Amino acid sequence: MFRIGNGYDVHRLVEGRKLILGGVEIPHETGLDGHSDADALLHALCDALLGACGLADIGQHFPDTDPRWKGISSLLLLEEVGKLCARENFKLVNADTILVAQRPRLAPHLPRMRENIARALHVEPRNINIKATTTEKLGFAGREEGIAAYAVVLVETTSA
Ligand code: MG
Repeated sequence: MFRIGNGYDVHRLVEGRKLILGGVEIPHETGLDGHSDADALLHALCDALLGACGLADIGQHFPDTDPRWKGISSLLLLEEVGKLCARENFKLVNADTILVAQRPRLAPHLPRMRENIARALHVEPRNINIKATTTEKLGFAGREEGIAAYAVVLVETTSA
């Protein structure tokens, strides 16, 4: 059986924070604000996976009021989500994602993000796709107030 899931996340860009997307630290004058490392791409992907497996959302599994998740690498959260899905007998077929940011240019960093995600979820990198787009300076992303990410996944049951 196949099931789909989607996810969406936004974090605010602020001074004094690292910019981490797809587990890659990207040199930039602002970074994403949040309880964890605020990796919007991985959060959208976690939500897509949880959604596909009928496991609610990232906030229910990793509440931002829990000190255990403060400053944590979202790659660890993604790995945990992968395990939760495996426990429900689902495996990832493929993921397609979009990062929405006016700046910085993300294209050079996409291959490393892809490798990080593939490693965390124990799949081949070719099953993970990441696209980056600007919004032609429109909206919050265009004004560089934040970065958004969308994810869609397909999962397959591993047992009858
Ligand atoms: Mg988030």
